[in-house]
Amino acid sequence: MELSKRALNIKESSTLAISARATELKNQGENVINFSVGEPDYNTFDVIKKAGIAAINENFTKYTPVAGIAPLREAIAKKLLDQNELKYNPSQIVVSGGAKQSLYNTFFAILNEGDEVIIPAPYWLSYFEMVTVCGGVPVVIETKEENNFILQEDELKNAYTSKTKAIIFTSPSNPTGVVMDKKDLEMIANFACEKDLFVISDEIYEHLIYNENKKHISIASLNNDIFARTIVINGLSKSHAMTGWRIGYTASSVELAKIMTNFQSQTTSGANSIAQKAAVTAIKSPIAALRLLIEDLKKRADYIYDRQQNIPLLTAVKPDGAFYLLINVTQCYGKSHDGNVINSAADFATYLLDAKKVALVPCADFGAKDYIRISFATSMNIIEDGMNRLEQFVSELN
Ligand code: PLP
Repeated sequence: MELSKRALNIKESSTLAISARATELKNQGENVINFSVGEPDYNTFDVIKKAGIAAINENFTKYTPVAGIAPLREAIAKKLLDQNELKYNPSQIVVSGGAKQSLYNTFFAILNEGDEVIIPAPYWLSYFEMVTVCGGVPVVIETKEENNFILQEDELKNAYTSKTKAIIFTSPSNPTGVVMDKKDLEMIANFACEKDLFVISDEIYEHLIYNENKKHISIASLNNDIFARTIVINGLSKSHAMTGWRIGYTASSVELAKIMTNFQSQTTSGANSIAQKAAVTAIKSPIAALRLLIEDLKKRADYIYDRQQNIPLLTAVKPDGAFYLLINVTQCYGKSHDGNVINSAADFATYLLDAKKVALVPCADFGAKDYIRISFATSMNIIEDGMNRLEQFVSELN
């Protein structure tokens, strides 16, 4: 029987595919360095875990309101006011099973068949698939390494058509680690207001900035017009090491929040009750508790960038936030390792994994075909070992 063309078009996540191969090798007894996973290597704080355990003991295990429990929506609205200068009513917040679901809700709510969504590349790989699944058309803009992967006004103008409905971006970025400055956000905001576009601002890495000269600014805070047309996406996975709890949220107009709630009521009925209780505690925890983790990330970012700088044939832009380093491998093309000729970033990643047992992500699905991504959400010993192996691999190319 014929299956859904839309479903058949969905690609397997390439990050998960490489992780699976790394696990397979590990299970065969190989000493594998896994630089592919996009989740913090620290544990959920005890105080948050305790709130989850208390929720179970109090039998807080039933369906919740579809858009999230009132204390959580209130805590999120307060957080957005205190930390991001965004004034939302709790009725404008929709809590979901991770930011991924929040993004799906958003695209489902705003897109009609054929509507175009501008996605500056390198981008987080799921945006492309999500837009397609929701009937939209992704329009990818290749930003340039020499511009630090910051979107330029002429690039945006060239991508715009009468069908453009929205633009999505993330800052700090996965996979580049770049944090956008106010002037970069103003350029996008002015354009979106002039052309009457939605802006989807994925702020999931907002707390993980370790360049002291950079500060997270939500584009929605720039003025009333951009506030009204922005859907802010955020969640607790990365900032609070809560990937498995699955809590994300949107902040938007009341109208969109209502549509997304209706959609969610017919799909998942909302986020897990226990995780929502834990999330109230997480959101209310002082962000100062994150300081140590950020200092740790800074050490790793500095180390890994310096090591990369000393490996000939590789180039990268220094990350300001998140926990990724994006490396350009084009200078390795045409060279070979153990007789295997490298003609793409995927080749580089495959031969590196085979020869040195280092798993990292080739970034074609991130709109960056000549790049590999290292996730340094892992301990310093492992980073050091992995970088030694990477350096050796490149030195053996001929
Ligand atoms: N947005 C970006 C840019 C991400 O990197 C991720 C996870 O990798 C997500 C959203 C999804 O996060 P969640 O775990 O909340 O679904």
